[in-house]
Amino acid sequence: MPKTLIEPFRIKSVEPIHVTTRAEREQMLQAASLNVFKLRAEDVLIDWLTDSGTGAMSSRQWGAIMEGDESYAGARSFYRLEKVIQDLTGMPHFIPTHQGRAAEKVLFTAACRQGDVVPNNCHFDTTRANLEYLGVQALDLVVAEGLQPQLVHPFKGNIDLARLEALLQHDGARIPFGMLTVTNNTGGGQPVAMANIRACAELLHRHGKPLIMDICRFAENAMFIKMREPGYADKPVREIAREMFSHADGATMSAKKDGMVNIGGFIVLRDARWLEAVRNGLIMMEGFPTYGGMAGRDLEALAVGLEEGLQEDYLRYRLRTAEYLGERLDAAGVGFVRPTGGHAVYIDARTVLPDMPVAHYPAWALCNALYLEGGIRGVEIGSVMFGKRLDDGTETYHAMELVRLAFPRRMYTQSHFDFAAEVIAELKDKAADIRGVRIVKQPKYLRHFTCDCEWVDA
Ligand SMILES: *Cc1c(COP(=O)(O)O)cnc(C)c1O
Repeated sequence: MPKTLIEPFRIKSVEPIHVTTRAEREQMLQAASLNVFKLRAEDVLIDWLTDSGTGAMSSRQWGAIMEGDESYAGARSFYRLEKVIQDLTGMPHFIPTHQGRAAEKVLFTAACRQGDVVPNNCHFDTTRANLEYLGVQALDLVVAEGLQPQLVHPFKGNIDLARLEALLQHDGARIPFGMLTVTNNTGGGQPVAMANIRACAELLHRHGKPLIMDICRFAENAMFIKMREPGYADKPVREIAREMFSHADGATMSAKKDGMVNIGGFIVLRDARWLEAVRNGLIMMEGFPTYGGMAGRDLEALAVGLEEGLQEDYLRYRLRTAEYLGERLDAAGVGFVRPTGGHAVYIDARTVLPDMPVAHYPAWALCNALYLEGGIRGVEIGSVMFGKRLDDGTETYHAMELVRLAFPRRMYTQSHFDFAAEVIAELKDKAADIRGVRIVKQPKYLRHFTCDCEWVDA
């Protein structure tokens, strides 16, 4: 068998991307105040800002779009998707929303009270924000291995069961439910083992608490279990996914990830405990229960996408793509969070720019350099995103300086990845020329999206 793992699809419709000159990119980055969030997408060659809602739909999904039933109530498209989700999750109650954070908001509003505590391996930022908005404490209890970027471990997304048990014993009355995020996006797209899911569910159930899973990347997680966890190598991924869901009492999903669509989300529940409050909240915040926040055509595309996202040749290619870029970075002496996750590679900017002061934001600097050198857009996960300017003008900094390259599904081919690997290797050689920045204008919250920067050496 040849060793090259090919993209398991051929291309039926193409979208041109534009090669720009270095001089043009310098001008465009300057016009964007040295903040790649403010670039026009047209001016980006390879856009790895996020894997959320950015992937390519299949010809089957585009065909299904034409089958969309746009009836306000009781649309055929709702019942079709409901059946797919019931079969997949084994849970009877399906509630559609317009994206993942809406599912969180509707469920948490129904199930949480001010003063509650919700443990998770790691809360995604919208999950945390939705809980904190309701006065609920969002607690991250990922295992210690999950916080060490260079350490190789097959399941760095696992939750720390001992800490969860201690929390249940001391603060049980304040816990409405426990959560698990699969894969652990905030922690580098790292998977959670079936043994950990099972043990976490048993522990919660022993204390009378339900398990709610954040299942944005459930298919990637199931494939990691197949490849890494003893006893699963010969099980179909679909069965592994069903086994994962069998331990949960409910789930929230952003369909923009493993749903293989550009917009959509849902809640699924095993019993009726929060159902009435969820449906009432849904009608107020999203829409009537048979469409939630989605058009009939989007429900159809998702019904097909959930099946396609579980195809094993697709998932093998998907996980291998990230691993392949990791191997190329390794060869170039560029560090990254190990092992590579399902949807992204997180470059450790410190291994390219070891001497740049953190006050010049090395990961942000590397992000800008990626754009200038190769027209590639990633996202800084470092001290611009997680640091803070205090009232006295001093700053707090983040523990890590990472650049995340997140891969839209079925969108880029191996030559795009080879190109990116070359660009990154070249940057490593020319690191002395990479310029740091200072922030000249910033909002109080979430400053990375909109801040204006200048070169420090200008
Ligand atoms: C993307 C994401 C969400 C939020 O979903 P949106 O569709 O972006 O609102 C929640 N949790 C995780 C783990 C995610 O990756």
